[in-house]
Amino acid sequence: MADMAEIKEPSFRESVNLMFDRAVGLMDIPKGLKEKIRVCNATYTVRFGVRLRGEIHTFTGYRSVHSEHMEPVKGGIRYASAVNQDEVEALSALMTFKCALVETPFGGSKGGLCINPRDYEEHELELITRRFTYELVKRDLIHPSQNVPAPDMGTGEREMAWIADQYARMNTTDINARACVTGKPTHAGGIAGRVEATGRGVQYALREFFRHPDDVAKAHLRGKLKDKRIIIQGLGNVGYHAAKFLTAEDGAKITGIVEWDGALTDPDGLDVEAVRQWITENGGVKGYGDGEFVENGPSVLEAECDILIPAALEGVINLGNADRIKAPLIIEAANGPLTSGADEILRKKGTVIIPDLYANAGGVTVSYFEWVKNLSHIRFGRMQRRQEEARHQLVVDELERLDRYLGDAWSMTPQFKEKYLRGADELELVRSGLDDTMRTAYQSMREVWHARDDVPDLRMAAYIVAINRVAASYRAKGL
Ligand code: NAD
Repeated sequence: MADMAEIKEPSFRESVNLMFDRAVGLMDIPKGLKEKIRVCNATYTVRFGVRLRGEIHTFTGYRSVHSEHMEPVKGGIRYASAVNQDEVEALSALMTFKCALVETPFGGSKGGLCINPRDYEEHELELITRRFTYELVKRDLIHPSQNVPAPDMGTGEREMAWIADQYARMNTTDINARACVTGKPTHAGGIAGRVEATGRGVQYALREFFRHPDDVAKAHLRGKLKDKRIIIQGLGNVGYHAAKFLTAEDGAKITGIVEWDGALTDPDGLDVEAVRQWITENGGVKGYGDGEFVENGPSVLEAECDILIPAALEGVINLGNADRIKAPLIIEAANGPLTSGADEILRKKGTVIIPDLYANAGGVTVSYFEWVKNLSHIRFGRMQRRQEEARHQLVVDELERLDRYLGDAWSMTPQFKEKYLRGADELELVRSGLDDTMRTAYQSMREVWHARDDVPDLRMAAYIVAINRVAASYRAKGL
């Protein structure tokens, strides 16, 4: 590995700004408006104390609001020791453009708490989360109509349930209290399919990419997802679900899994469920029985494969390793896994990069469905499902009559009746809405990518589509 100390790499926020600047350089937007869209509106830093194990521990947290061209603003809350203002601001900017790209009616925000969740017991994490929530609610930085967080690295359904409950305790008469946060468990106002949503979105993004042979050819690949060799970094929420669906439903092979304590490789494909189980029980991949264990985990990012899915941290592909990355196609399941310098090196090499603001937008898309569900106070499909089934029954009755009439000459395909009669439940509706969103957003990026000679990659195309929408929104509001 090159000595990173010698290489000047921009910070995460600078990286996002550089990518933004490249895109607006290709757009006809007044200078003042460009600047307004680029800057982060506000970042609130909070330091609070919680009494744990007999003494007071002080924690630092952030909530950053990048753009309020639409409200509420939306973005996850991350728990990690490395959380800092620069990172939270970069992530909140990405949220603005992500929401615009997939047409969820939100501005961009993000939050973070400097904490290693592994250092605390569950009841301690609850105390810390409730106190952090209290600080944010007090300033309307958690609010159903102003700022709606969601899970991110180190947080999940459990933390979101605590946040929702804390907000409800502080706002006892707010009938929309549950809409103050998304990613909640289904028994606490969540929606079916939210936990898997970001990984599912990565799968749908890849499926859509592989529907366009021209685009696949740009990555020097052919065919569909079946038997494609995938290396994935991070088998957490996003990485695990993406790996699970891509192997079980599309026939791809996971030939490498990179985790914080090393990596596993197997040219015949690793058993995703078994590795996940091992990580849950042992904390990392070390000691897993099958495949080969590689102590230097990041080196596996450089191994031969068809698709590389970084699904853990930002900045993992940087000036120090970009020129050694062999994957012809990278899909950024994590936020900001490539620095702007690495992006440039890979672009010049001809690597196709499906950018983060599109690739991991499945989470915010399904969060949007959850928020709408909370505000409408009714589960999706509850009114229509049986009525839909009754109408389908009419058709089936007629087909059965025809079947009897035609005797051996014709009969219904096995299972047709069963499949056709079943009205869609919430999970199916969520998957359908997510699939539609991922397809439509890809097509809007692709159109710009193919139509303009000065737009060399999908990332620039994604930024152009998103920035145009944010600019239109600001123009309509009259700032
Ligand atoms: P997570 O905490 O569930 O999983 C992260 C995984 O990465 C864990 O398995 C962890 O062990 C692993 N990891 C940590 N450090 C690592 C290292 N140095 N090398 C390799 N692996 C390492 O987090 P997540 O929710 O899956 O988020 C992952 C990424 O996806 C983040 O960039 C996040 O911003 C992005 N994202 C998440 C969501 C969501 O809905 N959860 C939505 C959009 C984007």
